[in-house]
Amino acid sequence: MNDAPAVSVVVPLYNEEENVPILQAELTAALAGIPHEIIFVDDGSRDATVARLTSAPEIRLLQFVRNAGQSAAMYAGANAARGAVVVLIDGDLQNDPADIPRLLAEIERGADLVCGYRAQRKDTLVKRLTSRIANFVRSRFTKDGVRDTGCTLKAMRRECVRTLVPFKGMHRFIPALVKGAGSQLVEIPVNHRARKFGTSKYGLGNRAVRATVDMFGVRWLLSRQLMFQVKK
Ligand code: UDP
Ligand code: MG
Repeated sequence: MNDAPAVSVVVPLYNEEENVPILQAELTAALAGIPHEIIFVDDGSRDATVARLTSAPEIRLLQFVRNAGQSAAMYAGANAARGAVVVLIDGDLQNDPADIPRLLAEIERGADLVCGYRAQRKDTLVKRLTSRIANFVRSRFTKDGVRDTGCTLKAMRRECVRTLVPFKGMHRFIPALVKGAGSQLVEIPVNHRARKFGTSKYGLGNRAVRATVDMFGVRWLLSRQLMFQVKK
């Protein structure tokens, strides 16, 4: 494929062997009729994730030497994207590819970043509660105003990718970074499904504590970012 596609879909994958064949089929169905590429980023999986992907002209694979984390996978995938619009989606089937056309429609209507929010989450009570508190605090503290940044399903104009900063945990602050750079953001409800195969890569300790520390870092970063306009 030599021409740049309209849409690049970026999928972070870490030990998702049962999920990838189903996900690939669902993505292909959802993107029918849209010139696209799908960038699977294998984040050092130790199972058969890579072997279970089917190669095709629109499929690209980035393989990390070792596990580097979800933010690294999303950052690398987004920076490799060639499409005018970059879609981010989880690789565990919790997000539904069927929502992608609605996200793209919002970009066409003028949004720079479209954030899905999980109207009916299919996660454990502990996860839903901690996430609700985290969203409440973070959305005010970083001024992103977004109700559910933990929902990976997002679409953004590729120009927004340059506002992403490569640090561990960055994926939770994509709306804060993009909005902080002055871009237009909208939220739409998306489907959410229970994880059927594989396990969540996060527990309370490695999410709540780190995300709180990162929040201070992002607020500082946004307060000190370079803002300039060159005269025409
Ligand atoms: N993931 C990744 N690297 C990691 C941890 C997670 O690429 O170190 C991927 C994972 O395979 C999935 C997505 O990031 O596609 C979200 O992870 P998970 O489903 O465990 O998060 P949760 O739904 O529990 O928030
Ligand atoms: Mg998940």
